[in-house]
Amino acid sequence: MPVHKTEAIVLKTFDFRETSLIAHFFTKDYGRINGILKGIRKDPRKFASTLEPFSINEIIFYPSRSSGLHLVSQCDLRDNFNSARARLESVASASYAVDLISRLMPAEEKNEDAYRLACFALQQINKGDDSEKVLRIFIIKLLKLIGFQPRLDGCVMCNKNILESAYFNIRRGGLLCQACASHSANDSTGVLKGTIASIAHMEKNRGEDSLRLELTPQIKNELDGIIRNFMEFHLQINLKSRQLIEVLS
Ligand SMILES: [Zn+2]
Repeated sequence: MPVHKTEAIVLKTFDFRETSLIAHFFTKDYGRINGILKGIRKDPRKFASTLEPFSINEIIFYPSRSSGLHLVSQCDLRDNFNSARARLESVASASYAVDLISRLMPAEEKNEDAYRLACFALQQINKGDDSEKVLRIFIIKLLKLIGFQPRLDGCVMCNKNILESAYFNIRRGGLLCQACASHSANDSTGVLKGTIASIAHMEKNRGEDSLRLELTPQIKNELDGIIRNFMEFHLQINLKSRQLIEVLS
């Protein structure tokens, strides 16, 4: 088996036996993988990284055919995001971003766009940008990359363009027109055009451009409510139990 070399974000680590460490990585070239670093706790100098969660490293590993636990022979730190580690809110946001990657990205499937998006989010959080804004963009773009985005380009029931009032239906995962909303069960909520346009902007444009969007408090509220309910209903991710509720509320 040839060795593999790639850039990787550390998602989480666990002590393993007396001297080793198991690390979950999100790699640029191989997607989400699990690796074992033998002897790192006995001799920390063996690796040029302490594998802090959400740090970026360059790793070399020998793929295991049988276990899905690959032998990591080298791990060199590229970016530890030290500024973010000095602020509690930034640590919570960065930890939340890697937690979502752990839960949403399938194992061993390359997704370079999602990798770049995660790096972008960590870099912006490290710079001290508004974490709430960065996470909103990160989540909306990530949902689109994995094919779970809410449908906003027309009514999910009748397919017509929505010209007047729009309603968001969590169960159906998208917008309803006024006529369909009035016929469906009472589980749709009115949504502002500005909220729909903001989500569409974040889905389509570069993250850097979406950071410049100025959202009104009302749009922020609606958007965060849609994200929370959508992820809870469709992905069983309950944001209410997480620290993010402090950030996205
Ligand atoms: Zn309709």
